[in-house]
Amino acid sequence: MMMMKMGSLRYAFILMMAANFMNGQEFDLLLKGGHVIDPKNKIDAIRDVAISSGKIAAVAAGIPVAKAYKTIDVSGLHVTPGLVDIHAHFWGVYGQGIHPDSHTLRSGVTTVVDAGGAGWRNFAAFKKDIVDRASTRVLAWLNIVGRGMDGRVAENNTADMDPAAAAKTIRAHPGLIVGVKTAHYDGPEWVAVDRSLEAGNLAKVPIMVDFGTFRSERPFEELVTKKLRPGDFYTHTYLNSVPMLDSDGHVRKFLFEARSRGVLFDAGHGQGSFLFRLAVPAVKQGFVADTISTDLHTGSMNAGMKDMAMVMSKFLNIGVPLADVILRSTWNPARAIGHEELGHLSPGAPADIAVLRVEQGNFGFVDAYKARMTGSQRLVCEMTLRNGLVSWELNGISRDPWDTLGHYGSQGDQRWDATAEDPPKYNRRPKR
Ligand SMILES: [Zn+2]
Repeated sequence: MMMMKMGSLRYAFILMMAANFMNGQEFDLLLKGGHVIDPKNKIDAIRDVAISSGKIAAVAAGIPVAKAYKTIDVSGLHVTPGLVDIHAHFWGVYGQGIHPDSHTLRSGVTTVVDAGGAGWRNFAAFKKDIVDRASTRVLAWLNIVGRGMDGRVAENNTADMDPAAAAKTIRAHPGLIVGVKTAHYDGPEWVAVDRSLEAGNLAKVPIMVDFGTFRSERPFEELVTKKLRPGDFYTHTYLNSVPMLDSDGHVRKFLFEARSRGVLFDAGHGQGSFLFRLAVPAVKQGFVADTISTDLHTGSMNAGMKDMAMVMSKFLNIGVPLADVILRSTWNPARAIGHEELGHLSPGAPADIAVLRVEQGNFGFVDAYKARMTGSQRLVCEMTLRNGLVSWELNGISRDPWDTLGHYGSQGDQRWDATAEDPPKYNRRPKR
C-alpha cells in the first residue's frame, strides 16, 4: 500500500513537471531585473535569478518570463546571497528569549551561527528547542564550557572546560556545529583559549574567541600572533579593549601580521563591542573585519546594533564598497565556517537570497557607546528567500493588488511562498 502511494505520488510529480516543461515553465520563480552582487562568482551586474525546487537554477541576463511559474520584478534592488551571520545568540542566559526567526529573515539573514550558547552538556536541548524549530538555518559554535553560556560563574568554571567531551559532541554533529567558542573568561591564565584550541584540534574545526577580560598576563597580541591558528576567529574586532591604534592613530602592525597568518577578525557588534572611535580609522587604514556579524541578543537588538542590515550599513557609510560589504556578509563567513555550499548564487546552491534596497538620504548610526555617526546610505531588506520561498517581504512586491483579485481567498502558492498553507517537502519544518 505504501509502495503504491509512493509510486503514484512520484507519478503525479513527474506529470506535474512534464506539464510545466510543456508550458515552458521550467523555473518555479524568477527574480527579474535586479542588480545581482555575488562576490564568490564575481557577479556585480543586472541579472535575473531563476529558482527551481528550492535551488538556484540560473543567473543570467534576460531570462524569459515565460519560463517561470512566478516572476517578481526586483528592478532597482540588489539581489545577494542570503546573509550569513556567524555571531548571534539564541540560547543561554544572555540570549534567552530571542527566537532566530524573529530577527533574521527580516534583515536578509538566512543562516545564523549561535555563538556558544550551548556546551556539550546541553547541546541536545538547544538543538531540539531552537535549531530544529527555526525556518532560519541555525548552526552553532559549541562553548568549551560544558554548560555553555549559563552565566559568568559557569563560564569561568575551568573544571567544566572538557576538550574531549566537546570534540565528541562536535563530531556527532558534523556541519551543524562549526567550531568551538570561548567567551567571557576573566582569569589570568590561557586555559579557556588553550582548551578551546585542544577541542578544535581534536575535532578539526576552528575556534572563535571572545577574549573576555583583557589582561596583561595573557596579552591580546600574543592571542592573535601566536595562539590562534589560521582560520580561527577573534570576535569583537572594534571593542574598546582591543589595542587597535598606536599613539599616532595608526593601526598596529601586529594586527596585519595576524591577518597575514590567516587569523580571522569578526565584527561581533553586540551591545558593547563596536566603537566608531576604532572602526572608522581602522577601516580607512584597511583593517576591515573579515566577517560582518551582529552579536544579536536581547541587549543589542534594540540598541545601536539593531540588525544585520544596520551593521552592514555602518561599514558602507564608513567607506567599504557595497560589494565588499556583501562579501564580508556572505561568502567570507560561509567559507570560514566550512559551509561552501552557502554564501553564493551558483546553480545548484540552496536558493537563500536577500533582496536589499540601498536608500539614499540623511541617516544616523549609533555605536556601542551610543555615539552617533551620520551617513547618506542605508541598507533595507526588501525581501528574503529561504530555500527558494519568499519568507519575508517588506512591501509585498510579490503580491497582487487587493482590488484586482478574481478570487478573494488567501493568496500565495507553495511553489514560491513560505507562508502558503502546504509548503513543499524540502522546506517543511519538523513537527513540534
Ligand atoms: Zn556574543
